Amino acid sequence: MPASTVQNAELDRPLSAVLLGTGNPLPDPHRAGPATLVTAGTRRFLVDAGRGVCMRLAAVGVLPVMLEAVLLTHLHSDHICDLDDVVTTHWIMSRAPTALAVLGPEGTRRVADGALAMLGPDVSYRLAHHADLTWAPELDVREVGPGVVLDDADLRVVVGATDHRPVESTLAYRFEHGGRALVVAGDTVPCPGLDELCAGADVYIQTVLRDDLVRLVPMQRFVDTIDYHSTVEQAAQTAARAGVGTLVLTHQVPTPPPGAAEEWLALARRHFDGAVVFGEDLTEV
Ligand SMILES: [Zn+2]
Ligand SMILES: [Zn+2]
Repeated sequence: MPASTVQNAELDRPLSAVLLGTGNPLPDPHRAGPATLVTAGTRRFLVDAGRGVCMRLAAVGVLPVMLEAVLLTHLHSDHICDLDDVVTTHWIMSRAPTALAVLGPEGTRRVADGALAMLGPDVSYRLAHHADLTWAPELDVREVGPGVVLDDADLRVVVGATDHRPVESTLAYRFEHGGRALVVAGDTVPCPGLDELCAGADVYIQTVLRDDLVRLVPMQRFVDTIDYHSTVEQAAQTAARAGVGTLVLTHQVPTPPPGAAEEWLALARRHFDGAVVFGEDLTEV
């Protein structure tokens, strides 16, 4: 295939997402932490940077230097704990000073500054060792709220406010490209901001929880998590209200055992007639 054809094929790539990590805060050998890669044409965005994100990016042939931006839904540890790995790998693989764009809710600058501070000793070692590496990692941080955060001929990215209180503020991201729309929501209960963002989207990716199962666990700290996550039923109801095409369940709590997918899908289908996908690591939609 001539090089130009390959290039055109990549330019024509429709809006799509890969669930890089579908895990929750508890470590799991089969699920990385929350992170989703969104591809629009030749542009790539990472939504959240949970445990193992760089490994999962590598699994789909993407390196941090290939990302246009990192978008954070909120600053809970499970969604940001490998941001430092993204920052370091982006930095050491850049051929020239290149700031990594990081968008997120209020507080993102503090987290980014903290990550850079934590990496300080490593940065000094590498600067001292490599003659051709003369710049420290740089982050182009934008704290954003509801509204359009990117709009050009090719792509529109819209931020919606979600409700994960007492965590404030929290965001979901809607990508529009090539006549399609895809929403990546972080942890949230159903709310008007999410409904509005999801309206008519082709794909809606939602972190979900099974309250019936979580209530069985004799640990109050775990039961507390019911307060601020969408249950599978609530995610399905949001999908139905917003008229989305496909609902994708991710970040399942508690971690489903092998073979449980059908049960989770059946719960969603009671409230939503569209397609429902049970997310596993590297599921593409
Ligand atoms: Zn989470
Ligand atoms: Zn959270």
